[in-house]
Amino acid sequence: MCFGLNKDTSVKKGQIAHLDRKPSNNKLDNLCFLCLDHHNEYDSTPSQSRKFNIAEITEYRDNLYAFIQDQISNPKIAKGDSDQGDSQSCTFELYERRLKIYYGIKALLDKIIATDGVELADFRAFSTNTEEAYFLFDEAFNNFLSEIYRKAARLHTTGKKLKHLPAGAERSTVCEEEEKIINWISESYSELRKKMKKFTNVR
Ligand SMILES: [Zn+2]
Repeated sequence: MCFGLNKDTSVKKGQIAHLDRKPSNNKLDNLCFLCLDHHNEYDSTPSQSRKFNIAEITEYRDNLYAFIQDQISNPKIAKGDSDQGDSQSCTFELYERRLKIYYGIKALLDKIIATDGVELADFRAFSTNTEEAYFLFDEAFNNFLSEIYRKAARLHTTGKKLKHLPAGAERSTVCEEEEKIINWISESYSELRKKMKKFTNVR
């Protein structure tokens, strides 16, 4: 409500409110974080003269979510500065979360370089470790992440093929493809570091 009414995005103490005022209805859509003042106001308004209805509050909530999402993925536009170039400063907390993802990515690259291959367990670890990336980086970075995933998946397939493929033309083709992917992976280290730079300037 602070945001919806006053575009106020400062940090507030608050509580989770039940929008339909039924404490037993804990469906996610019925819950909304309200600051203490607005929670009070929302709950104490007599039902006859309800100042705020559910639709209004959920709209404010959706708008706030969209605003936060936009600010995370596009801090430059949200803050309105255009002269900071590519280096956006971030909070230490954001930095730590991004760094965790960096190590998740690096672990997959390291595994591929060390073993010339990739196991299903590596994919699982990679997916878990980089799950939050969508919210913490921009589109270009996430495209790069998807590309790494695709290459690794392809490497998994070629590795399986090579186990049974006899020497010959087909094997050579697959070997060649594998080599290309591994080269791409080894070059992606510097690409990764370059891309990370933009997201790791602690304020
Ligand atoms: Zn409020």
